[in-house]
Amino acid sequence: MIAENLAAVEKHIVDACERAGRGREEVTLISVSKTKPPEMIEEAYALGKREFGENKAQELKEKHALLPGDINWHFIGHLQTNKVKYVVGRACLIHSVDSLRLAEAIEQEGAKRNVVSKILLEVNVAGEESKFGIKPEETLALASQIAGMPHVQIQGLMTIAPYVENPEQNREVFRRLRELSVDIGSKNIDNVSMGVLSMGMTGDYQVAIEEGATYVRVGTGIFGERNYHQNGSNT
Ligand SMILES: *Cc1c(COP(=O)(O)O)cnc(C)c1O
Repeated sequence: MIAENLAAVEKHIVDACERAGRGREEVTLISVSKTKPPEMIEEAYALGKREFGENKAQELKEKHALLPGDINWHFIGHLQTNKVKYVVGRACLIHSVDSLRLAEAIEQEGAKRNVVSKILLEVNVAGEESKFGIKPEETLALASQIAGMPHVQIQGLMTIAPYVENPEQNREVFRRLRELSVDIGSKNIDNVSMGVLSMGMTGDYQVAIEEGATYVRVGTGIFGERNYHQNGSNT
């Protein structure tokens, strides 16, 4: 099932890149493996996948220890400062930085271990109350504050778009994240890059690619529905 799903997702990515006049190599697929057992990750790994996404610090730590060392682990969930120690040094990219306090905790842990963490700022573009993320208008100020931290490197922006029936409804959200990243990029802040746009999930990654996504985060479309009752997890 995973092989068929990955093939279908790959085809959709290629088609979306073509529609947008973009090269396939501009878009990286992250296989979101949260709640899924190591065996399923191994199956995707055997098919050549190396980028996996997790949203719980403890789960990332456990899977990191268990699975091959050349996997790139992306941390995509809400991160509490007391869990930063599980993620720094294990995640290749932390997609979900949404406060100065969190960035400071990542800086501190990085200083302790002599590790520079690559991060994205999570922006709540649609202004949904149920979602984490900073307001678009706060993003530049936060980027400027984090820029001075030697063990934190901003690589770009991330957003979680609303759940919608028709992915076209999220086109504007993706467009606004891209515009924001262009705006901030144009300020040429030292130690702040805006090259990465992490946006698009199973329901809307094709539209996200058309609007400039460089990372898409696909879970259900690859591994199937998540069963939260099985392991007591709830996000
Ligand atoms: C779970 C999750 C995804 C993947 O969602 P699907 O709809 O299953 O593709 C992507 N991004 C984040 C931040 C997630 O938590």
